[in-house]
Amino acid sequence: MIYSDQTPVSHQDALPEAVDVVVIGAGVIGICTAWFLNQAGASVLVCEKGRVAGEQSSRNWGWIRQQARDPAELPIVIDSINAWETLSRELTTDIGFTRHGVLYAAENDDQLAQMEQWLDTAVQHQLDTRMLSGAEVDTLIKDEPGQWKGGMFTASDARAEPWKAVPAMAESLRARGGLIREGCAVRSIETQAGRVCGVVTEHGRVGAQSVVCAGGAWSTLFMANLGVSLPQLSVRATVARTAPAPDIYQGNATMGEVAIRRREDGGYTVASGVSNEHFIGADSFRYFFKYLPALRASVRFIRLRFGGNLVERLLPVRSWGDDEVSPFEQTRVLNPDPSATALRQMRDGLVKRLPKLAALPFEEAWAGMIDVTPDVVPVMDEVADYPGLYLATGFSGHGFGIGPGAGRVMADMVLGRPAVHDLTRFRLSRFSDGSPMQPGPGL
Ligand SMILES: Cc1cc2nc3c(=O)[nH]c(=O)nc-3n(C[C@H](O)[C@H](O)[C@H](O)COP(=O)(O)OP(=O)(O)OC[C@H]3O[C@@H](n4cnc5c(N)ncnc54)[C@H](O)[C@@H]3O)c2cc1C
Repeated sequence: MIYSDQTPVSHQDALPEAVDVVVIGAGVIGICTAWFLNQAGASVLVCEKGRVAGEQSSRNWGWIRQQARDPAELPIVIDSINAWETLSRELTTDIGFTRHGVLYAAENDDQLAQMEQWLDTAVQHQLDTRMLSGAEVDTLIKDEPGQWKGGMFTASDARAEPWKAVPAMAESLRARGGLIREGCAVRSIETQAGRVCGVVTEHGRVGAQSVVCAGGAWSTLFMANLGVSLPQLSVRATVARTAPAPDIYQGNATMGEVAIRRREDGGYTVASGVSNEHFIGADSFRYFFKYLPALRASVRFIRLRFGGNLVERLLPVRSWGDDEVSPFEQTRVLNPDPSATALRQMRDGLVKRLPKLAALPFEEAWAGMIDVTPDVVPVMDEVADYPGLYLATGFSGHGFGIGPGAGRVMADMVLGRPAVHDLTRFRLSRFSDGSPMQPGPGL
């Protein structure tokens, strides 16, 4: 199920005068951050311009993946997958969490060699990742045999139903006294004596000692209004779900041109393994050089597009006053149309790779806008110019699985607790201090 601005509002808590922490954005990152803050005893309000999990956090594939992660992310995602498992037992809604693994199938020796490079990282972290022969891939995937040279497989990787998981955490947060207000855009922050002291929302002001911006694809715009540069570009990714299907595999797999995940409703979530689209806009030019390494690494996967509302993208509103309607109020739920080209590629991919699924109708298709940073890892940091303002954004297409882990990281940071993980790679200043942009494993 995909949320839109037609989805009924579920959370309408009255705005308090003040809380310890305001979280901007009720995606997986904002809700998990608030959840761990609340667990630590902080009072918290989540302001969401649209609906809980309305954007990326309900639209994603539902993979909870350790395999092929950036080495700096991996310890956090290991923590996260265990947290998802615990949460799945404690939450009152079944979120469909189950560990059936992630498989990357390889057609040739080059692909296998590229995958093998990541094995050292897996070994360092005692993961159960292993290389498979072509015959082992055929044993795992009960469809057309003989297509694969081999693959890489992590059996402890997991899946969950994203459209249920984040709303279930939101319910749990509220049951424990956390506040959530949907339909409540945060226009800006307030400061006093050089420190954050609250937010200005479309429904009024709320005092806070700390503010966490977990705005996904909107974070760059929010920060631009504060005069802070945050390089993130939006990439459209298209997804579909099939009707109930024969059980060819219970986990998550990328099989060349197509990626699949078994769903708890008996169908498969299907996506293109090769096609995401970036629509050129002002930020594409502003950040072009920072993105060159990532573009080179993923040139096969990203198509540049000029269509749609190009003029608006080239001349975006980048600043507004506290008493003006902000861009966040004008688009409650970012709900891009799915790409017809991507849907065709997915169908062709099924015909070629997974013929047992090829004739199944797509019962629903949708798209989401992914917030991609130049080095394809997130920002988790305090903003130097605004003490008390924190950023948790830019999860670059893999933020669902790491959600609870990242939420715990952010809660610790806001509460001034010592960091459990090395967070150097996620600092905001890497985009301005001359650091080379080094995208993680491009697998
Ligand atoms: C098609 C697709 C497939 C993906 N597949 C996977 C996958 O299999 N596994 C995985 O780990 N990740 C996957 N991802 C990535 C993952 O979904 C995201 O990284 C993750 O959901 C990001 O969460 P978030 O909370 O940062 O952002 P979002 O979920 O986008 O939430 C941000 C929220 O902030 C709100 N907001 C923004 N600005 C304001 C404001 N000023 N005031 C109030 N509210 C505001 C927005 O309305 C939005 O609801 C996929 C993403 C897509 C689109």
